[in-house]
Amino acid sequence: MKVTVFGIGYVGLVQGAVLASVGHDVLCVDVDQSKVDNLKKGLIPIYEPGLTPLVEENVAAGRLDFTTDAERAVNHGDFQFIAVGTPPDEDGSADLKYVLSVAETIATHMQTPKVVINKSTVPVGTADKVTQKISETLQTLSKSVEFSVVSNPEFLKEGAAVNDCLRPDRIIIGTSDDAVEEKMRELYAPFNRNHDKIIVMDVRSAELTKYAANCMLATKISFMNEMSNLAEKLGADIEAVRHGIGSDPRIGYQFIYPGCGYGGSCFPKDVQALIRTANAIGHKPSILEAVEATNYAQKDKLFAYLSDFFNGDLAGKTVALWGLSFKPNTDDMREASSRRFMEMAWEAGMKVQAFDPEAMEETQRIYGQRDDLVLVGTKEGALKGADALVICTEWSQFRAPDFALIKSSLTTPVIIDGRNMFEPERVEDKGIAYYAIGRGRSV
Ligand code: NAD
Repeated sequence: MKVTVFGIGYVGLVQGAVLASVGHDVLCVDVDQSKVDNLKKGLIPIYEPGLTPLVEENVAAGRLDFTTDAERAVNHGDFQFIAVGTPPDEDGSADLKYVLSVAETIATHMQTPKVVINKSTVPVGTADKVTQKISETLQTLSKSVEFSVVSNPEFLKEGAAVNDCLRPDRIIIGTSDDAVEEKMRELYAPFNRNHDKIIVMDVRSAELTKYAANCMLATKISFMNEMSNLAEKLGADIEAVRHGIGSDPRIGYQFIYPGCGYGGSCFPKDVQALIRTANAIGHKPSILEAVEATNYAQKDKLFAYLSDFFNGDLAGKTVALWGLSFKPNTDDMREASSRRFMEMAWEAGMKVQAFDPEAMEETQRIYGQRDDLVLVGTKEGALKGADALVICTEWSQFRAPDFALIKSSLTTPVIIDGRNMFEPERVEDKGIAYYAIGRGRSV
């Protein structure tokens, strides 16, 4: 089937490559010329496990191509995916300018009927706005072409995006049109073989499902972070509590890790956007507001531990930082906890020596050259001459470090662990002070 994907980001590129891998004929379009030029040279703009070979194979097979030519793109696909960004507007609500601009582009160039599929995360009511934009544009151009707008939110996780798209847990299709539903079922049939993962609902429910899912996940994290703060003050161990509650199948072990706050391109912006949606209809979203406030405060924890250890005497000290990306297996630094930590450390006059397996280029792009940031090629190198070690991201290569080397490298051996990677007693027994989230030492 012929598919066009607008937006070659985490969602568009992965989804485009995955759709091509089952045999669909996919053309991805972006306004970013350099991104398209690089892809044409085989340079993949993001780090995502398994993505490079998937793109290479499908480009070579002639099933996947990239362009900035919107007219060619619109005329290519019977299905037009919208997978452009929906960043927060000034007030935190989702900014729909990219989505609506794509809607206008589709209407401008379309000659044959199209199924327009919204994959971007968008507030309830956006499908109506996209429909309106396409209708108005067609009218202005005195054209009459059939189209329908479907909500098909994306649930991929960065760091596991290829696998999530190849083997989705569910495929949400928001439409009330039986013929369109059938076309969508055919498009996704290759991903729907083991058991039926397609859940069809009305458009508005599909749009809300995406926000509800992300807000539920963010709630789990903030809930656990609140428990970890209580555990710290009450002399309990949050890891024991986590095991204790996870054993109840109604709660489960998934996604109940305390830590130094959630980040990334989705949870912070989606929680904020749903709060704005609620405010706009006069509803006070008390739980969501608490989730956001708890997360904001949690991102200060690592610095607070560091300050506690050094009794506030931080100026002139050097901190080794392991992990910059907002989570492992990605180079995405959007809203990463490491950013708040580094900015607080710099504000206090500290120098940061950081290592990350994938996100150092992105860190350099964000912060540029500065005397108080040194990006080091190995995790061991980052320790040299540092006073303390802070861990922001749970990359697997940090799980079993050489503690003797950590001890001998740091002038004052202390690990501040934002991801609870180690057992406090084991680390302390090696002569290293250890702060983790909700595990004894309290600030
Ligand atoms: P991204 O910022 O990585 O990529 C968006 C791309 O769209 C960019 O390359 C940009 O140049 C392009 N673009 C902007 N305007 C365009 C236009 N008019 N025509 C063509 N291309 C255009 O964004 P992303 O992370 O892929 O997210 C896209 C959407 O999917 C967002 O709504 C996001 O919330 C949602 N989402 C993201 C994830 C994730 O993990 N990243 C997961 C699920 C859903």
